[in-house]
Amino acid sequence: MALPTLLRKPITIPQDSTLSWRLIETSSATEETIKRAPKQQKALALFKNFKSISKEQLKEHNVNSATLKVLCEKGFIEKQTTTRSFSPLQQTASLLKEAPLTLNEEQNKALNCITYDAFKTYLLDGVTGSGKTEVYLQAIHNVLAKNKQVLILVPEIGLTPQTVSRFKQRFNVPIATVHSNLSDKQRFSIWQSIRHNQYPLVIGTRSSVFSPLNELGLIVVDEEHDLSYKQQEGVRYSARDIAVVRAQKLNIPLILGSATPALETLHNALEKRYQHLTLNKRANTQTLPTIRCVETANHGLGEEAITAIEQTIKKQQVLVFINRRGYSPTLICQDCKWMSQCEGCDNPMTLHKHPTNSYNTRQYLHCHRCDNRAPIPNNCPNCHSSYLKALGTGTQREEEELEKRFGHVPILRVDKDSTARKGSFDKIFKQINTGEPCIIIGTQMLAKGHHFANLGLGIILGVDQSFFSSDFRGAERMGQLLTQVSGRIGRESNGDNKPAQVLIQTQFAEHPLLQQLLKQNYHNFAQTLLSERELTAMPPYQFIAVIRAHAQSPHIAEQFLQQARLQAEHIIAPRPGLQYLGPLPAAIEKRNNRYHFLLHIKMSSRSERQRLLQELCPYLETSKQPQGLHWLVDVDPQEF
Ligand code: ADP
Ligand code: ZN
Ligand code: ZN
Repeated sequence: MALPTLLRKPITIPQDSTLSWRLIETSSATEETIKRAPKQQKALALFKNFKSISKEQLKEHNVNSATLKVLCEKGFIEKQTTTRSFSPLQQTASLLKEAPLTLNEEQNKALNCITYDAFKTYLLDGVTGSGKTEVYLQAIHNVLAKNKQVLILVPEIGLTPQTVSRFKQRFNVPIATVHSNLSDKQRFSIWQSIRHNQYPLVIGTRSSVFSPLNELGLIVVDEEHDLSYKQQEGVRYSARDIAVVRAQKLNIPLILGSATPALETLHNALEKRYQHLTLNKRANTQTLPTIRCVETANHGLGEEAITAIEQTIKKQQVLVFINRRGYSPTLICQDCKWMSQCEGCDNPMTLHKHPTNSYNTRQYLHCHRCDNRAPIPNNCPNCHSSYLKALGTGTQREEEELEKRFGHVPILRVDKDSTARKGSFDKIFKQINTGEPCIIIGTQMLAKGHHFANLGLGIILGVDQSFFSSDFRGAERMGQLLTQVSGRIGRESNGDNKPAQVLIQTQFAEHPLLQQLLKQNYHNFAQTLLSERELTAMPPYQFIAVIRAHAQSPHIAEQFLQQARLQAEHIIAPRPGLQYLGPLPAAIEKRNNRYHFLLHIKMSSRSERQRLLQELCPYLETSKQPQGLHWLVDVDPQEF
């Protein structure tokens, strides 16, 4: 699984990926001959720097084949096709394209704590905008300077182009970016080049934790709390946790960075297994925004929010966060309370407006679980009433409301639907970066580490359901989301010294956890959650594995898990801390016409849990299984 797909197929490996060009050191060609050819000059400078460059790297530097051909003809460079065992890590010119920033005291202290000659995990725990990236950049420089490689994991490259461009701006070295939008061939070709030491720096998403770097000297995991590091299909692995193991095996340092560390990570830092480095203030002397709760029973934007938008929009941008895409979460019959439900799932169908035209055009129902679409019924299927109403709100509905009130400024919607087309996110991004007044409305895609300069106001809607989440991590996720969304606001000066503000619309303004998050900070909040977890014997104090099974009939899935539980009880004797829960139906039992069940196994020792699974899994694999049953093991599950 760690290998690119092409290598897992019985096909001939494409040969062209071994093509590269090298500088002829003894060449008698004079630069006089390319005096009037700036493209050739640029390419030649590149060769002087790296000596030998692969096809992919040349593409990245925008050197075209015509330029290469001329340089070959003039005798500056030559093609080499046989080996790829050269190492451009030994580069001659400066590693830096731009000068590093002068670190502030906190950053400096953090950087100086990092040592490079042995395994150690550092938690770089810095508030939003505290300059964590600058600390990574300088630590990376220290490692590159020793001719070692660095692997940087980021949550989603498509959503965080700014982060990648900051690395590209800083370093004068070839940088590989590995993400899900690559074709199999591209992926293989990059994998090959990495294996041949052609990239001192690799930036990638989850699966790039397996990149074949031979001289790895440091791993950085940015936004380490992000859920996307855990693969939720196929083999359920956590790239962050694999990064820790990889660093340990290679005896190198690892930096986990976040403004809102996962409770697991924070616990490790408090227990001194990780070294805790903290940055408590914003690097560019901007203060964090003031955050206020507005008590409201409405789903949509309230009066106070509207007034705040009116005031801000004159000079600055506004961000409206709502974690629901679509128009409204469900359609309800006002007479009999019938609700639009997906036929294949126990899941309400979301009401969507057609994306091309947001005003009163075609609507449809969409199930976000199984992608099923259905037309809007004219009458209630249950009582034939025509009084059907959209219940609750989503990004499309708020966009429509905003357009009615603030038609004079651009309204930019950022969610899975509005960014589905290639390049549309970039376009929205460019417009935001002009700094011109606009209203940005979107889902958690907006919470991901962006640096927007002119956001003066944030409004957060629809977080109330996370207070009552059936997932024990609900409160943790809410705290992370609120902190990260607020962290996008007021990152640069607005000129008139007024602190930026964030309004949270909620019906539970007095909720103790919310109050603690706002009056104190994420840390105190996280400490409270940690003591709750300890009291209730939940992770990170206990270790969970879940066996999930699904089948066309609920009995089959349930029976299989019952058998799994009996076998587990047989393998490992009852002991304090060992607890089974289930088989239980999953939170959404029916999905895509299949019934989902789970069995929780909770233990107080990680190694005992592993011992149990190592015996249980082979047993389940070899036991006779009913047709159509699917099952899997999820160790340290992140979502229920
Ligand atoms: P984080 O990654 O912690 O959210 P960033 O690294 O994006 O923070 O930094 C926030 C802003 O502060 C950026 O504009 C960055 O250029 C600036 N910054 C970071 N470190 C310094 C420094 N030492 N001096 C001046 N500005 C800095
Ligand atoms: Zn009805
Ligand atoms: Zn469905």
